[in-house]
Amino acid sequence: MDIFKGQELLAFCERFKTDDDCRSYLAEIVFSDGFKCKKCEYTKCQIRKNHSRTCNKCSHTQSVTSNTLFHKVKFGLRKAFFICFEMATTTKGLSASYTGVRYGIAENTARLFMHKVREAMKPSGNNPIAGRVNVDEFVVGGKETGKQGRSYTSKKKKAVCAVELTKDGKVKRFYALRIDDFSSKSLKVLFEKHINKDAKVTTDEWKGYRPIAKDYDIEQVPSLHGLNFKALHTMIHQVKTWLRTTFSWISPKHINRYFDEFSYRINRSQSKQTIFNNLIKRMAASGKIYHKEIICS
Ligand SMILES: [Zn+2]
Repeated sequence: MDIFKGQELLAFCERFKTDDDCRSYLAEIVFSDGFKCKKCEYTKCQIRKNHSRTCNKCSHTQSVTSNTLFHKVKFGLRKAFFICFEMATTTKGLSASYTGVRYGIAENTARLFMHKVREAMKPSGNNPIAGRVNVDEFVVGGKETGKQGRSYTSKKKKAVCAVELTKDGKVKRFYALRIDDFSSKSLKVLFEKHINKDAKVTTDEWKGYRPIAKDYDIEQVPSLHGLNFKALHTMIHQVKTWLRTTFSWISPKHINRYFDEFSYRINRSQSKQTIFNNLIKRMAASGKIYHKEIICS
């Protein structure tokens, strides 16, 4: 398959001129392993004009979007592809209201679809970060007081994040997770989800990390107002700025989705050439495991 590469908008427009161009592209991904009927598992089919497959045995028809996150997309596959392209390649934030205006769709429709894209951006958990890792907590929302430490008001949303560093201290990968409090139990969820047991982890001197050190290799050092965690603090600053400037209000329910979106782009900054194709593949695959309605507030 001739996958779409790069981040150029004009090349993208040229490649995806119609909904049918997008259906054809999606069909290549969805049926890349051949056809297998969802009803009777028969493997021979007729390919229809709109790229859907009709089973030769039971006549069940599978459209290219069924069982994908593009299922029943109301505004056409081409707009959906463009939104995916923008979300995969943007460095600035993309809000639902902006997307609504740019694509001529209702804000809520845009919001729902963008949450589906974030669902596809969710980390698989199969590739935990390893090597040199820094972990720290932060808060999101509320007024910026510039206050350091953990004496945060309860209104702010709390989060913990981890960064994998290259040999020269640059960010290789980043994950963040919303937590209810800064207890060991809550902090540990990030470790279990995203950090390899062999990783060499550094945290600040918060006592919440001490019990986790039983299962992970943790060294605690003074934060020195973040000086000891420069790359990590740059990431925290970036994710907070992105959230603040993109979204007018962040539901605690959705904040992890936004973190996933942010991490997805950061963790693929070395593979921007293929990021769009990667996202479409995930959109095609996620639907099979994702059935529950995304509730938008
Ligand atoms: Zn069949």
